[in-house]
Amino acid sequence: MGKFSVDRNGFYGEFGGAYIPEILYSTVKNLESQYVGILESEEFKREYRDLLKDYVGRPSPLYYASRMSRKYGCNLYLKREDLNHTGAHKINNTVGQILLAKKMGKKRIIAETGAGQHGVATATVCALMGMECEVFMGATDVERQHTNVERMRMLGATVHPVRTGNMTLSDACSAAIRDWCCHPSDTFYIVGSTMGPHPYPDLVARMQSVISEEIKWQLQEKIGRDYPDYLIACIGGGSNAAGTIYHYMDDERVKIVLAEAGGSGWDTDHTAATFHRGTVGILHGSKMLVMQDDDGQIQEAYTISAGLDYPGVGPMHCNMQRQGRTQVFSINDDEAIYAGYELTRCEGIIPAIESAHAVAALSKLSFKPSDVVVLTVSGRGDKDIQTYLDNKKMAKEYGEF
Ligand SMILES: *Cc1c(COP(=O)(O)O)cnc(C)c1O
Repeated sequence: MGKFSVDRNGFYGEFGGAYIPEILYSTVKNLESQYVGILESEEFKREYRDLLKDYVGRPSPLYYASRMSRKYGCNLYLKREDLNHTGAHKINNTVGQILLAKKMGKKRIIAETGAGQHGVATATVCALMGMECEVFMGATDVERQHTNVERMRMLGATVHPVRTGNMTLSDACSAAIRDWCCHPSDTFYIVGSTMGPHPYPDLVARMQSVISEEIKWQLQEKIGRDYPDYLIACIGGGSNAAGTIYHYMDDERVKIVLAEAGGSGWDTDHTAATFHRGTVGILHGSKMLVMQDDDGQIQEAYTISAGLDYPGVGPMHCNMQRQGRTQVFSINDDEAIYAGYELTRCEGIIPAIESAHAVAALSKLSFKPSDVVVLTVSGRGDKDIQTYLDNKKMAKEYGEF
C-alpha cells in the first residue's frame, strides 16, 4: 500500500468515503469485502488478461512521437489508448467490472454516461457476456451524442434519457444511483470513472492500472529504464489519469502533470476546471472537490469536451493534488482544439478532444532535451471531427483546408 492508496476506511486523506443511502449499504459493503479477493484470484486474472489481449487489443503501443518531440525539445512517447476496441481507455474498466459482476452472481447491469463513451463500453461488454444493460444519460446528451445512443441501442442496451437538473452527466449519475436503490441485490452498477462511493475509485483505478503496468516494461524495452521524467494525462473523473500514474504514484523521480478542462477559462462561468474552482463537498457518494455555490448547489460544468464535463473529480486525485504530488493545468477549449490539430498534423493521430487537453499541457512545461515524457492519448477523435471542423478558427495555423 503506497501513501496515496485508499485507506482501510475508504478515504484518501480527507477525500473519498461512501456516502450512500441506507438501502445500498449492504450491497456496497458486499462489493467492498469481495472485490480485492476476486481481482487477485488466478481465475479472474487469467480471464481479464485474455480479454484485454484478444478483445480489447492490448498491449496498446507506446509510440515515440519524433516530430512532436523535436517541437517540444523532449522525448515524447504516446500511450495509445485510442487504439483500444471502442476507441478509448474506458473498455479496460468495463471488461474488468463485468467479469467481477458475473463472479458476484449479478444479472443486470446499469451505468451512467455523459458523452456516451462509457455507455458504449458498457453496452459492448454486456453484449459480449449476454447480460441485460440499462444506461442512464442526460436528455441533453442524448441529443448531442446521438451516434453513441444508436451504438448502445444496436448493442442491445436500453438508454434512459434523464430529464432532471441540467439533463447532463451529473444528473445521469444521480439517476443511476436511484435505480440501484430500487434493485440493490440483482444489479451491478458499472461506474465509469474513479468516482462514486468506496470501493469504486479504487476498483476503477485498479482496472485502469494496466496502462502504467505496460508503460513500465515498454519503457524498459525502449530506453533501458522503466520510468519517465513526466507523465501527462487529461482528467475528468480521473480514470485514464489513475491508470497512467498507478505504478508511479510513490516514485518521486516521476513528475505528474494533469490537464483539466478550463472551458472558456477557469475564472469564467463556463468551465469544468474543478481543481481550480472546486471546494470540498459530497457528490455521488464521495467526498471530493466539487464546483458548487455557497449553498452547496452543484454548478453546471462547461467544456467543449463532453467526456470532461463533470463538476467533480475523483478523491484519489483530490488528495494527491492537495499533497503537492500532481501539477494540474486548466486547458481552455481553444487550446485543446489547437493541440488536437497539432497532433493530427505532426503525427497523423487525431486525438479525442479530451486527450487533446493533455497534448496542450506540453506547451505549459519547459523540458530538458533528455527528458522522457509519456502522454496518454485516452481516446480517438472520430467522435469529435465535427467539433474540430466547427472550431477550426481556433487552430488557424492548421485549419486552412
Ligand atoms: C471519458 C473520457 C475521458 C475522461 O474520463 P477520465 O475518467 O477522467 O479518464 C477522457 N478521455 C476520453 C477519450 C474519454 O472517453
